[in-house]
Amino acid sequence: MQERIVVIGGGAAGLMAAIFAAQGDAQVSILEGGAKIGRKLLATGNGRCNLTNENICTRYYHGDVKRFQGILEAFPGRRVVQIFEGLGLLCRSEGEGRIYPYNVQASAVLDVLRLALQKRNVEIICEFPVMMLEKTGASFQITSHNGQAVYADKVILATGGKASPRLGSDGSGFTLAKRLGHSMTPLVPALVGIKTHTHRARPLKGMRSYVAATLWMDGQKRGEETGEVQFTEYGLSGICMFQFSRHINMALHDNPDCCVEVSLDLMPEYQEEWIAKKIAGHAKQYPESALSGLLTGLLNKRVGEEIVRQVFADPYPMPAAVCTFRHARELARCIKHFSFPILGSAPWDSAQVTAGGVAGKQIHPQTMESTCCPGLYFAGEILNMDGDCGGFNLHWAWASGILAGMSAAGIQNQKEKQGGKSS
Ligand SMILES: Cc1cc2nc3c(=O)[nH]c(=O)nc-3n(C[C@H](O)[C@H](O)[C@H](O)COP(=O)(O)OP(=O)(O)OC[C@H]3O[C@@H](n4cnc5c(N)ncnc54)[C@H](O)[C@@H]3O)c2cc1C
Repeated sequence: MQERIVVIGGGAAGLMAAIFAAQGDAQVSILEGGAKIGRKLLATGNGRCNLTNENICTRYYHGDVKRFQGILEAFPGRRVVQIFEGLGLLCRSEGEGRIYPYNVQASAVLDVLRLALQKRNVEIICEFPVMMLEKTGASFQITSHNGQAVYADKVILATGGKASPRLGSDGSGFTLAKRLGHSMTPLVPALVGIKTHTHRARPLKGMRSYVAATLWMDGQKRGEETGEVQFTEYGLSGICMFQFSRHINMALHDNPDCCVEVSLDLMPEYQEEWIAKKIAGHAKQYPESALSGLLTGLLNKRVGEEIVRQVFADPYPMPAAVCTFRHARELARCIKHFSFPILGSAPWDSAQVTAGGVAGKQIHPQTMESTCCPGLYFAGEILNMDGDCGGFNLHWAWASGILAGMSAAGIQNQKEKQGGKSS
């Protein structure tokens, strides 16, 4: 009888796993909890889908990186590009090695995946949220919320994590994995904005500045990023803050008393002394002007006013003339070290990724098969593996999905190469 492989989860990892599993002789089905497959994929990269990166390597990943290093080495960015080009998607490379579909439409990525699934006769069953996954003898019973059951010889669990649950990934996959004997590492939101005290955040809400940011934990430097920071209602956002978020949340998870601070250099190209002279010069040039506007021409207006308020408690009634060189130095220091105590991050709803997941030690890294439940394979964000911004998370979903799909179908690596070219 024909073997049946069921993929649970119709996201990036599940779709790719199904395409490659279907290159073998098995009948392949996807069970997706939502009304449509690939919903998160359409939201990626602001609708442009940063699908991989030219510079795939371990330094951009966190979690069980050592365990899965071989997969990253076997699947560099160009291999994923070749596979997508084989499926009919032309790609383009932008800054920092980020790769997008040539037409910069995430929908194009989903379209070619759909075509490939169709061509390989993969059955897609939507609105089938899996509530129970049981192993009975050599086969699996997969049951939905309304008691409907599907049977499979092999299962690929690709349900994603807990980030952005409105797009389908509600964390239910972790429960399914746990029931079959798998352990989880701590789960925290990653690639998400970070929180500070409301009274520090509110006055700057809506402003943006180009910064060099430093992450401090208990007085030790733990990260450096450069880029645009966006000030929000609750704190700080933007790619450079996203990159800090998993480290902050993991540190606070391990030790809630950890003292976390982010310091922003608002004029990274300039020395403190030069800035002090510039400010003092401005005060001399326009002594009658409002002290609150002293940093006009240097910084974002509202950010500048906030810095002045840090040095002069109530600058509003005063003219710029009251600014001495000592004040100018203090202001310059504040500009180079605009610091915020960090309380955590925005919640799962706004996170792009889950840090933590099914422990890598329970997965064979050559096949993605579970070590404690033979016939069960894992792919994507459900695993304890997360990447930085830049296409690294989707890359992991594709690479682990391809490997899980091929392994479940008993296909050798060489066949994948040919399949990728000819498909
Ligand atoms: C707004 C946003 C933008 C992003 N942009 C990028 C980007 O540009 N580049 C990048 O590399 N990464 C990006 N990411 C991260 C990336 O999208 C994810 O890491 C990736 O989609 C994970 O793939 P996955 O298949 O493992 O999980 P998901 O994409 O989350 O897919 C899991 C699927 O499983 C289904 N499912 C869950 N539970 C069940 C169940 N019990 N039964 C049945 N089905 C179930 C879900 O409905 C979902 O369709 C972004 C994420 C977000 C939220």
